[in-house]
Amino acid sequence: ARKWVVKKHFDGVPKLSDFEIVEYELPPLKDGEVLLKTEWVSVDPYLRAYNKNIPVPYDQFSFQVGVVQETKNPKFPVGTKVVTHKGWCDYVIVKETTPQVSQFRRELTYKLPDLQGMSPSIGVGAVGMPGVTAYFGFLELCQPKAGETVVVTGAAGAVGSLVGQIAKIKGCKVIGFAGSDEKCQWLEKELGFDKALNYKKVDAQTALKAAAPKGVDCYFDNVGGELSSTIISQMNTRGRVAVCGSISAYNEKEVPRASILQPSLVFKELTIEGFNVYRWVDRWTEGFTQLVAWIKSGQLKPAEHVTEGFDKLYDAFVGMLAGENTGKAVVKV
Ligand code: NDP
Repeated sequence: ARKWVVKKHFDGVPKLSDFEIVEYELPPLKDGEVLLKTEWVSVDPYLRAYNKNIPVPYDQFSFQVGVVQETKNPKFPVGTKVVTHKGWCDYVIVKETTPQVSQFRRELTYKLPDLQGMSPSIGVGAVGMPGVTAYFGFLELCQPKAGETVVVTGAAGAVGSLVGQIAKIKGCKVIGFAGSDEKCQWLEKELGFDKALNYKKVDAQTALKAAAPKGVDCYFDNVGGELSSTIISQMNTRGRVAVCGSISAYNEKEVPRASILQPSLVFKELTIEGFNVYRWVDRWTEGFTQLVAWIKSGQLKPAEHVTEGFDKLYDAFVGMLAGENTGKAVVKV
């Protein structure tokens, strides 16, 4: 079998030489185990963000969908599709770790939910970890009400594109920030965003004032930095901010200090809360069920950016960090 190993801590943008593809022998299966052939691998921002905290070398983890080739577990017959967190490998041996009993996130292994004929790849996207991040992170922390104004950054990405669509389902006015005119057009024309703004071109302060003249009620923050400070400065009284990520700083050596405006937090009684999607790990199935239903009814579009080939995992990863993806970045192995 083959796997990608991270052998050096990343310095700025990850380099191909920070990784190595290692060939190794798989041992025979033990009771309860299954051999998976990987079909789809996810590349995500947290692979960059967590790197500095993990001793090297380590096997590059991420979610993947695999199909059972051999089995010593009657609950997982040959042909079963499985989601696991072993990551960038072409074959892997796993055993079931249900979300409820899993202590170690990296061992989360479960049967792919019933996708009712849709591509299994969305098991690492809209009906996977990014899907439940958008679903619970937005609905639980932002508590959106119909008619409110919602802003989302990283709007054309995996999580952001879902948050905006869920906000539309809930009857909100939605404004997204994304990194190209093409992405902004797609958000407005295909996903029904009320306004999408290219943060690389516009003056965020004035553009947001024009797009949200009544102020912002909910902000789903994927990027952090100055853009987030600008958005927070335009929030209404008792506005809610869900802090999901800060990708604008992941490749930085030092975490930059953004000027979140403390007076406006007090005067406007804002709630700002960070979260980790594993907070709701025992409710993922509930999230998956609703997400599948929305996709089936046409209310939610699960966009994907597909790269082909096991050898292209690195390219897909740095491409995603640079904003090449519209929707969820996945690799077809
Ligand atoms: P995306 O699909 O959104 O891909 C990353 C995107 O980030 C790129 O497409 C790019 O789009 C954008 N980006 C890159 N650099 C910058 C920058 N300097 N400023 C602004 N945007 C930038 O990834 P995900 O949807 O998987 O993740 C989105 C965020 O959610 C990340 O911060 C991630 O860490 C976080 N996350 C948090 C979870 C949690 O449990 N809290 C769980 C899952 C994700 P563009 O062209 O618009 O710049």
